[in-house]
Amino acid sequence: MSRHPDLDPSANGLEDELSLRPRRLGEFIGQEGLKQNLRIFLTAARQREESLDHVLLYGPPGLGKTTLAHIIAQEMDALIHVTSGPAIERPGDLVGILTNLDPGAVLFIDEIHRLSRQVEEILYPAMEDRKVDIMIGKGPAARSIRLDVPQFTVVGATTRQGQLTGPLRDRFGIVMNFGFYDEMALFQIIRRSATILGISADEDGGAEIARRSRGTPRIANRILRRVRDFAQVDGLSVITKSAAQKALDALEIDDLGLDRLDRAVLLTIIKKYSGGPVGLETIAASTGEDSGTIEDVCEPYLLQCGLLARTPRGRVATKLAYQHLGVAMPKKRDQGSLSGLESDAEI
Ligand code: ADP
Repeated sequence: MSRHPDLDPSANGLEDELSLRPRRLGEFIGQEGLKQNLRIFLTAARQREESLDHVLLYGPPGLGKTTLAHIIAQEMDALIHVTSGPAIERPGDLVGILTNLDPGAVLFIDEIHRLSRQVEEILYPAMEDRKVDIMIGKGPAARSIRLDVPQFTVVGATTRQGQLTGPLRDRFGIVMNFGFYDEMALFQIIRRSATILGISADEDGGAEIARRSRGTPRIANRILRRVRDFAQVDGLSVITKSAAQKALDALEIDDLGLDRLDRAVLLTIIKKYSGGPVGLETIAASTGEDSGTIEDVCEPYLLQCGLLARTPRGRVATKLAYQHLGVAMPKKRDQGSLSGLESDAEI
């Protein structure tokens, strides 16, 4: 199964993606609280001529975790080594990476929740004491030796903080939570990207894209490119509100920014399972989508919009979801099934 475009940074073309990526903290738009703190931590580490403490970034895909990891390296004048949880298959792979790091380097581990236990065991002493233990030889003659690793900073990114083991989470001195961007920040991101891509969007055109980008810079940039295609073919030199609307409608992105998959998830719960509760795997099977994609890409935004609620027995479509999709809500819902909601959405 190919990766959902929201999970795949190269879905828009890697060149384009790289050119739109802010390089310095000053260019990074939004996430003000997080940026303010980070600026202080970076300055303090630089003043002490030390590496920055290990940083854990978590939040839904496309919100700028990878971008910020690169910015941290840039601001610390450090080299960055990029890898991911699934790419480090064996403990030996990680030992190889750690012992070859340049002093002060940033080791960016994307999807860090997917590291295996054995690999984590290597990472702990490296993060804490800058040591790795390796086994030499086999059988009774085997012995363990300790190697030093240079000063370095792990920047870990994850969409699932809950899946990180406690000991790993505890080893990060700085933990930063990415929330969805507000329309103002998205508008600025769209303006910036439009300038880099050599197009212009008027105030209303930019605002329309911002409003329907589900709080996510990667989606805002992707929509901007597609709107540019529509505008170009129609012979428009500026992206106006009506040009943006035409393209967004053609892309089946609705007023709230929901795409076809978001709506399919809600409709499945409503039509096939009487509004829920229904388990994630069942929704995945019914929509033909990977459960990880639904959990990482769809759910956080549907929860944030109050369209979906999570209960111990499964997912429930809220009253707002019925209203948004224009489906009449059944009069009586099984109240027992709605206890223990994780969301305070009205259901
Ligand atoms: P993640 O690693 O969280 O999935 P990325 O760092 O790959 O997200 O961000 C996706 C794209 O969105 C980046 O290429 C960048 O162009 C854009 N982007 C993300 N955050 C910002 C931001 N704060 N300001 C400007 N552009 C951003």
